[in-house]
Amino acid sequence: MRLKNKNIVITGGVSGIGLATAERCLQEGANIVIADLHDDAGKERVAELNSLYAGRCHFIPVDVTSTEQVDQLIAETVKQLGSLDGVFNNAGIGGMCAADSYTDDDYLRIIDINLNGVFRVARAALRQMYQQGNGSIVNCASILGVFGQSMTAAYSAAKGGVVNLTRTLALEAASKGVRVNAVCPGYIDTPLLSGLDANMRQALIQLHPVGRLGRPDEVANAVLFLLSDEASFITGAKLMVDGGFTAGKS
Ligand code: NDP
Repeated sequence: MRLKNKNIVITGGVSGIGLATAERCLQEGANIVIADLHDDAGKERVAELNSLYAGRCHFIPVDVTSTEQVDQLIAETVKQLGSLDGVFNNAGIGGMCAADSYTDDDYLRIIDINLNGVFRVARAALRQMYQQGNGSIVNCASILGVFGQSMTAAYSAAKGGVVNLTRTLALEAASKGVRVNAVCPGYIDTPLLSGLDANMRQALIQLHPVGRLGRPDEVANAVLFLLSDEASFITGAKLMVDGGFTAGKS
């Protein structure tokens, strides 16, 4: 059991990569708090997971754009479980738009969830983990945190921010026993991609040298590793989970 008795919060854990990570962490012995906007779906997922994993899964509703709700999430987790050993900072939204067509609201919403939300959750987690003297935070960035792509100005700006935020937090936290890393998934087959038509999907597949989209559990395995003590000498890293997307052109 690679995460036995570790207490881990996963934001955006109701679907896709977050849900797959919750399940993998439960399989490895962790207690999980799924934190997401969706109250009903969250409770349903938790009931399903608890039937398999002996009541080790909990749900706390949260909107990562609210500092109050995020601080409450971490406080409630510690109250219920006793400590905070890991966080997967995963909540995020997509959105494609030409840079010259964005409204302020649309641009700022993506930044507020995908970048500021990651900061709010990390800040609250660090305050708790510094008191404990240990902990591991994994932020969800993207290949678009290291690569540009047309029509993704807000998303790419946010994910690039997550990569460098991760490095900076890692430097601040290193002497306090806390590690901070990022995963950078390629295109992963989740509800976030559900709006794609067949041509678009095929075009995305071709960007990955392995010849397919990724699966949520493939990202989950990378996150699990970074959360675990197996990654005890790794901090400030960005782990590409992208089927070779960023390796270069073949
Ligand atoms: P999903 O949409 O399947 O899951 C994300 C979850 O986060 C959803 O339940 C979503 O709710 C929730 N969420 C959205 N906004 C908030 C908020 N303000 N507060 C709390 N929860 C929120 O997405 P994925 O699993 O695909 O994505 C997970 C992460 O992985 C994201 O950060 C994404 O950017 C990143 N990623 C995904 C890739 C992909 O190809 N799928 C590639 C690279 C990175 P709702 O459904 O209402 O939005």
